[in-house]
Amino acid sequence: MLLEVKNLYVKYGNIEALHGISFTVDKGEIVTLIGANGAGKTTTLHTITRVPPPEGPKITQGDILYEGKSIIDTEAHKVVQDLKIALSPEGRHIFGNLTVEENLQLATYARKDNDQIQVDFKRVYDLFPRLFERRKQRSESLSGGEQQMLSVGRSLMTGANFIMLDEPSMGLAPLLMYDMFRALKELNSQGMTLLLIEQNARIALQFAHRGYVLDTGAIVASGNAKELMNNPDVKKAYLGG
Ligand code: ATP
Repeated sequence: MLLEVKNLYVKYGNIEALHGISFTVDKGEIVTLIGANGAGKTTTLHTITRVPPPEGPKITQGDILYEGKSIIDTEAHKVVQDLKIALSPEGRHIFGNLTVEENLQLATYARKDNDQIQVDFKRVYDLFPRLFERRKQRSESLSGGEQQMLSVGRSLMTGANFIMLDEPSMGLAPLLMYDMFRALKELNSQGMTLLLIEQNARIALQFAHRGYVLDTGAIVASGNAKELMNNPDVKKAYLGG
């Protein structure tokens, strides 16, 4: 198991946001965590990347194992640099006044493997040809969809081998959304493990191998993507009947 979240309880101040969730991600998988607004999806990602309180949640019970070792005492920068776990936040978290290329370059700041960095630049531009076309353009002038691509590209450039994506479909027109998911599928076929959080359950379950449904801080259903798509409760609540 690459990632194992075990009976995790977290709080913001006195308010409990996750009430004992458990899930796993195996190497090479695409796993999705689906749920409505406020279900606790981003909280889960911020707990794994160890964003410290007060912005980040505080763990009150449970454990997070990565490659079999507990990471609950690992500092956020070490999660990225040593464990090679990256978070691709919603696209608006890029540096708007820098070019596409500068944003990608900045994500490599802690790396010393220069040859591999060049390989990764090519990988990002092969996955997202639009980013190559716009590499000299200031990022604030990119469309919402292109900014999402840049966010994913930045995660790759950290040298990660496990990427967690916060709603990559957010704000994308349907065609761009499919482009994005095709790129993620391609990335996965190259060996990248992905944890995808999505409100758009339909597209997430189409692309993921397995999924979990998060509802107000608790996991209420899980299974392989096909099973979940055919689960009557999931259909009713998340797939529009
Ligand atoms: P969305 O899709 O709307 O982002 P989500 O599933 O990602 O939803 P979270 O953002 O994880 O949900 O929020 C879960 C709960 O925790 C919500 O009730 C939210 O108000 C609360 N919460 C999130 N971040 C904080 C914070 N920094 N401080 C206090 N409460 C927070």
